[in-house]
Amino acid sequence: MGGNGPDITGSTLAPEEAFGALGNGIRIDILRILGDAETSLPFSDLRTEVGVDDPGRFNYHLNQLSGHFVEQDDAGYRLKRPGERVIEAVLSGAVTETPVIERTQIDWACHFCHSTPIEMEYRDGQIGVYCTDCPGMYGGIDDIEADVPPSERNRLWYAWLPPAGIKGRSPEEVLYASARWTMAEIVTSTSGICPSCSAPLGDGVDVCINHDTADGLCSACDRRFAVLYWMGCTNCVFDSAISLGTALVANLELRSFMIEHGLDPVAPKSPDFRRMIHQFDEEVRSTDPLEARITYHVDDHSIALTVDESLNVVDVAR
Ligand SMILES: [Zn+2]
Ligand SMILES: [Zn+2]
Ligand SMILES: [Zn+2]
Repeated sequence: MGGNGPDITGSTLAPEEAFGALGNGIRIDILRILGDAETSLPFSDLRTEVGVDDPGRFNYHLNQLSGHFVEQDDAGYRLKRPGERVIEAVLSGAVTETPVIERTQIDWACHFCHSTPIEMEYRDGQIGVYCTDCPGMYGGIDDIEADVPPSERNRLWYAWLPPAGIKGRSPEEVLYASARWTMAEIVTSTSGICPSCSAPLGDGVDVCINHDTADGLCSACDRRFAVLYWMGCTNCVFDSAISLGTALVANLELRSFMIEHGLDPVAPKSPDFRRMIHQFDEEVRSTDPLEARITYHVDDHSIALTVDESLNVVDVAR
């Protein structure tokens, strides 16, 4: 990746300058109100809405934002793109809030053992979904080292969602929102594009050589599937690791197969969809170089994708 990019010009603000300019409640209010406004706001309207009586004091704070976060046109002041991104981050709650939803039962069936209900919780900006019966998808090495009882390790999946995503939604709606949000992230990230900052991602696979799932999860890697596909951003802190079967979800042949069988590849609402992308057959045919075959099932139909070490699909069989 990279190397022959276009010449890039334009200005850069040092992070400490940017955050210094933002470190004041009046300035955050200015960004919030301009973010809400349909049109540019004249100075006096903006000052009244922010609620600062002293024009000199208000002008001082507005000046700290002008140029980079806020710009002026004939009608008044409006946000520039960096100002929009700051207020989006603030309003998502991602940088200021740490809400918690304690374990809550959801009337969905586990896609591995079909037991109902499953449970979800939300903490640290992350949704955890658990089976109450089977070992789920992965146990988590940290949990085993910390002696967390097996009943609390039975994760079906994890997903990030900003705090704004849990407001005004039932726990089940939160799960739907996170499933769809995560699917968009998977489609973007498996195309080599960072879903957080858009920079190129690096990627690779970890293969468990001694994989044995006789007890549900493998005792060597603590996962249900042997092949883990990982991605890391070359620019920001984004990283992610998903099973190979989930990583292939954007494949065109697989999407065609889903649509033919009544599944919507971008709206993972149905239990059939969850079952298909989480419960597939994985066959590692060679580890060096990697060759693996993933077989997905819907009703009595199946599709098998074979991938090489670069995760190129080299064979499709129905
Ligand atoms: Zn289960
Ligand atoms: Zn293993
Ligand atoms: Zn990134």
